[in-house]
Amino acid sequence: MQDFMRHSEIQAPTGPELHCKGWGQEGALRMLMNNLDARVGENPAQRIVYGGRGRAARSWPAYDKIVESLLTMDNDETLLIQSGKPVGVFKTQPGAPRVLIANANLVGKWATLEEFDRLEQMGLTMFGQMTAGSWIYIGSQGVIQGTFETLAALATKHFDGTLRGRLYVSAGLGGMGGAQPLSVKMLDGVALLAEVDARRIQKRLDSGYLDVGLESIPEAVNIALQAKAEGRALSIGVHCHANELLQYLVAERITPDVLSDQTAAHDPLVGYIPDELTVEEATILRAEDPSQYLQKARQSIAHHVENMLVLQRAGAQTFDYGNNIRREAFDQGVTDAFEILGYVPAYLRDLFCEGKGPFRWAVLSGKPEELYQLDQLALDMFGDNPLLRRWFTLARQYIQFQGLPARIAYMGLGERDAFAVRVNEWVAQGKLSAPVVFGRDHHDTGSVASPYRETEKMADGSDAIADWPILNALLNTAAGAHWVSFHHGGGTGIGYSLHAGAVVVADGSDDSAGRLSRVFFNDPGIGVIRHADAGYSLAEKTMLAHSARMRAPFVGPASNIPSDTRA
Ligand code: NAD
Repeated sequence: MQDFMRHSEIQAPTGPELHCKGWGQEGALRMLMNNLDARVGENPAQRIVYGGRGRAARSWPAYDKIVESLLTMDNDETLLIQSGKPVGVFKTQPGAPRVLIANANLVGKWATLEEFDRLEQMGLTMFGQMTAGSWIYIGSQGVIQGTFETLAALATKHFDGTLRGRLYVSAGLGGMGGAQPLSVKMLDGVALLAEVDARRIQKRLDSGYLDVGLESIPEAVNIALQAKAEGRALSIGVHCHANELLQYLVAERITPDVLSDQTAAHDPLVGYIPDELTVEEATILRAEDPSQYLQKARQSIAHHVENMLVLQRAGAQTFDYGNNIRREAFDQGVTDAFEILGYVPAYLRDLFCEGKGPFRWAVLSGKPEELYQLDQLALDMFGDNPLLRRWFTLARQYIQFQGLPARIAYMGLGERDAFAVRVNEWVAQGKLSAPVVFGRDHHDTGSVASPYRETEKMADGSDAIADWPILNALLNTAAGAHWVSFHHGGGTGIGYSLHAGAVVVADGSDDSAGRLSRVFFNDPGIGVIRHADAGYSLAEKTMLAHSARMRAPFVGPASNIPSDTRA
């Protein structure tokens, strides 16, 4: 057991040997450890995985107890995690989840960053982001297809379907933001990214997500413009604050073709470094005077959005990429912040209407060749789906693995369960040497309420209705996911989102086949129903095509009768 309780150089065990009493627990153990692998997570020493302070466990003692519980639990028990701390193991039943997770949830009136900080300081809670505290983070790859599909949709809408000869400017090369340069490159464009922390630039260079790291803004801009003129794909990280880069572009009258941001502005205390402070100075000020820090960070964010608006008005296709930067700036008096579009209504919602979202898997054998076998299987099964064909071809060419070999694929309703069940058969037949974990980001079709991101500008105005992610978590529990999570604040920050996750281990058994089939049909299924209920005809069409497997008794705007409580 001691081997599993090291707090440095954590790496998930690989291969077919079982250390727990069942693969449900074993899968959770390995994915928890994979989240804290230095090749995968951003700051494992503090148990931070990505997204500002998105953690996998509340403290090291809590981590040890989670590991101990997973190693010793029986196959009819369920472990409860309360904000990164294991609080109970109960007798349930063999087909139930092995782990149920709730992270960072607060009662509405108390759901502010300041209150969350206070409670976190007292050791009572933990921010789990989306896949950090739910143990299904797979490194920057976990977001790369979303970034790629978003930019591909943008390129189709505004350009000629590619980013060749176009300049993309943004900031933040963290866990998620690190996917930007590679996604732009996959679309043949030029990416120029401001990043204030030199170590993050180095991490992206090491993992092959970034081509060049530079200190000088004028040099970086010159090289970027030259590559743009030549139609040459290139990605450049420049070591500076976002505002320094944007101000330089404004002053020099250089308008990027595309502009966005991926600093962790949703968490101004931890995720955004104020102008004029180095990362080291920021660490000191944050600890000594958090309210002064917050004030400085928020002022810088306001300035940042003002700069984005200037460039948008000059012609840059500008969009908010899910970090709540518009709202933070709006609260500082930037009243036109929402003139910048959100990426979900602009580019992604149609995919959600088809039940498509960031489905993913990781091979517990640790063998890249087994992952490539699964790539081929996906191509054989879904080769006529152009989105998937293009993605698998590019992913194989460009993406290096971080930790356990893993793949993301925006599969839709009917595709996810079919693929997972087939892989389970391969495990049973010994075509793969160990089980495969299947899960998804919380940033999906039916699992999140986030009015400045996934549910921004819903057709029926239901942006802030949070019943859907709760139903999603309950449905996945009923369907027997191996672990189910319900979090608050992922993506857009405390007070702004509620969301759920589900993971199943394909161990080759009939039990796993049933779980995979139920969970990965129902899970995107509720997303399709959620969008059909909001009035999206594409979702209604998707729903009707699958009516043999789900029923929607009373769905759509016409089924909504205003409350008669005041009559
Ligand atoms: P992260 O904390 O790992 O990285 C943030 C990066 O921004 C860090 O490298 C940090 O040094 C840099 N940074 C902070 N302030 C800066 C400044 N002033 N100038 C330049 N660089 C600065 O966060 P992440 O996981 O990369 O996520 C980034 C944001 O994207 C978060 O708000 C997250 O919630 C959101 N997000 C978006 C998606 C999506 O699909 N669009 C998915 C997940 C997360």
